[in-house]
Amino acid sequence: MTHATSFSAEQLKSLHQPVPGGVAVLDITGTGQGQTPAPTARYLNKPVLVARTDTGRWFAIVGIPLSAPIEKQELEVSRGGKKSIEIFLIRDKKYREQRITLKTNKHVDLSPEDLARYEREKKLQDDAYQQFSAQSPSNILLDRPVKGPLSSPFGLKRFFNDQPRAPHSGLDFAVPTGTPVQSPAAGRVILVGDYFFNGKTVFVDHGQGMISMFCHLSTIDVKSGQQLARGQILGKVGATGRVTGAHLHWNVSLNDARVDPAIFIGMFTS
Ligand SMILES: [Zn+2]
Repeated sequence: MTHATSFSAEQLKSLHQPVPGGVAVLDITGTGQGQTPAPTARYLNKPVLVARTDTGRWFAIVGIPLSAPIEKQELEVSRGGKKSIEIFLIRDKKYREQRITLKTNKHVDLSPEDLARYEREKKLQDDAYQQFSAQSPSNILLDRPVKGPLSSPFGLKRFFNDQPRAPHSGLDFAVPTGTPVQSPAAGRVILVGDYFFNGKTVFVDHGQGMISMFCHLSTIDVKSGQQLARGQILGKVGATGRVTGAHLHWNVSLNDARVDPAIFIGMFTS
């Protein structure tokens, strides 16, 4: 059963934060007599997570990229072979800016070797985010991967030595090296590596395009292909890659859009 898991509509609707870098939750059950097969949905030409409620309704849980323009968005819905377009609106969100001075430019102006390495590693990670497995997530409200205070928020606009960098794609927790990292939902490890920027990194596929990434780990305790239970320890916090100190960086991706993990742990601020 692909859709064995069901959720309360309240739980699903609590994720509705339709901003760039947020999530839109849309009821796509449709009208029509009797129960049709599970609908499917696509956004920006990518498959979208569709979750069933305990009352038999279907909701699309759409990740909105940070780069999304503030205009009408289109969700392509398919029910029993019939396609339709559902329009939804997003609102703007102002993200904070941060200027960081680094002593050396090693991680700002990359050498040709480092650039080639970065591009190789980026391809692997981009591919991981595009995976879409049929399994429904075990839980849609996620557990915190570590216990500890939040530090850098998602979406922070960063400048390193005055050069603009990609906005912060995840959420940071200020926790010491060695803190165990728990998988926030069940899932399968789809990629592990030790990368130029992200350091020791684990990707977990929670199902239907919901994918977590954990970076800067000191140790990785899992292997690619391994199935993880909710709460299972996958590694320990560290300071590998481009960091100024030990912390956990956690990304959450839906339909290949990195979204604010705070939404899934009840910590979102608009
Ligand atoms: Zn971070």
